[in-house]
Amino acid sequence: MSRTPEAPIYDLALVGAGGANLLVLQALEKNGWLRGHDLLIIEPDTQKGNDRTWSFWTDQTDPAYELYHEVVEHQWIRLSATPKWKIKPLTYRYVQIRSAKLYQHARGVAAHYDRTHWKWESVKKLKPEEDRVELHFQNGGIAQARHVLDSRPPQKSSLEGIVWQSFVGWRVRCPGAKWDPTHAVLMDFDIPQDKQTQFIYFLPNSAEEGLLELTRFSPKVLSEEEALPYLRNYLGKNLPNCYIEEKEINRIPMTMRLKGQKPHPRILPVGGAGGVVKPSTGYAFKNMAKHAKAIVEALESGEELPLYRQAPLYAFCDTLLLRILQDDPSQGSILFKTFFKKSELPVVFRFLDEEAKTTQVLNIMRRMPWRPFLNALWRQITDPRRP
Ligand SMILES: Cc1cc2nc3c(=O)[nH]c(=O)nc-3n(C[C@H](O)[C@H](O)[C@H](O)COP(=O)(O)OP(=O)(O)OC[C@H]3O[C@@H](n4cnc5c(N)ncnc54)[C@H](O)[C@@H]3O)c2cc1C
Repeated sequence: MSRTPEAPIYDLALVGAGGANLLVLQALEKNGWLRGHDLLIIEPDTQKGNDRTWSFWTDQTDPAYELYHEVVEHQWIRLSATPKWKIKPLTYRYVQIRSAKLYQHARGVAAHYDRTHWKWESVKKLKPEEDRVELHFQNGGIAQARHVLDSRPPQKSSLEGIVWQSFVGWRVRCPGAKWDPTHAVLMDFDIPQDKQTQFIYFLPNSAEEGLLELTRFSPKVLSEEEALPYLRNYLGKNLPNCYIEEKEINRIPMTMRLKGQKPHPRILPVGGAGGVVKPSTGYAFKNMAKHAKAIVEALESGEELPLYRQAPLYAFCDTLLLRILQDDPSQGSILFKTFFKKSELPVVFRFLDEEAKTTQVLNIMRRMPWRPFLNALWRQITDPRRP
């Protein structure tokens, strides 16, 4: 590490030890970068435990799989969603990672390298200089780094009027239940919509234990009280025996406003702050893993650190869908159901991963009800803004 009279200069600083930066840490370790460089990790939350459960589909061809396979907790080989599928896809698995396991794993990786330093601090300000960035801490201290990956959450004011993915999840144990731990229920829209777009996830980890989550896509955020009847109803006859082991109540911004902003060539926003969350679904984990690999390749080759970019065709689709959900959230379930009903599962996943061929995307669009999208397009033309 080079030194100035004031403070050491790290090669890289990770601001925030959440999903995005810890996947970068994994990528740095995998390619040997940590052995020859100085890394600073800054995280204010000393109590960070299982604050979220990440679930997503993956197949054997996912090049970022090497970054997270060690912390996968459970996988499901049978998948279903309303209204159509109940199948055993050949290549895809739905996997689950409990965040506590990734956090713990990362602490172990950091402790293993002499030149990696972990600081329990809060970053107040980043001040770019010509050849480095100064990191100013809440406690008045300062550090310096050549490059900074910033995962601090976006300003609340930039999120006014957007659509939220809000959810109330219960990890339940129901003695006597007979759930199938190989079968995950994704996006079950067969629940009352009550003028919103909402669905149930049910991810059983064993015959008697699983994560049950009500999720809503709407400008109106779901409260726990509102979620209660839907969750109870889903548990049905199992309900009298069930108890809640853990709750997950949170929300994810579904917006195009966090895309494409880099405050300085040496400061790269990552994760939620870097627009990595897919606006129309709230999935982010695999995108963060992909981005982590691209960042580490750029660090190795000395190129400028890359922003996470969304292809224009997908940005267009997401913009229209968000406009529809913003203006009339009750339309979402019809659109998602049509999408699931008229497309094969691998195509659905490739489309949601933004990796489908253009012809597949056009085929999907051709089969969707066109009126809501035309209306949204017209509104976007006459009142252009980032939803
Ligand atoms: C409850 C929940 C469940 C989710 N489930 C899924 C899922 O199933 N699948 C999926 O693909 N995506 C999911 N997501 C979306 C996405 O994967 C996560 O939001 C992901 O954790 C984003 O990573 P991140 O690093 O951007 O943010 P975080 O993981 O929130 O990390 C940001 C870090 O920055 C720290 N920080 C904050 N302020 C400062 C500061 N001033 N200085 C230094 N550090 C600071 C925070 O303490 C935190 O540790 C979920 C999101 C949530 C909230």
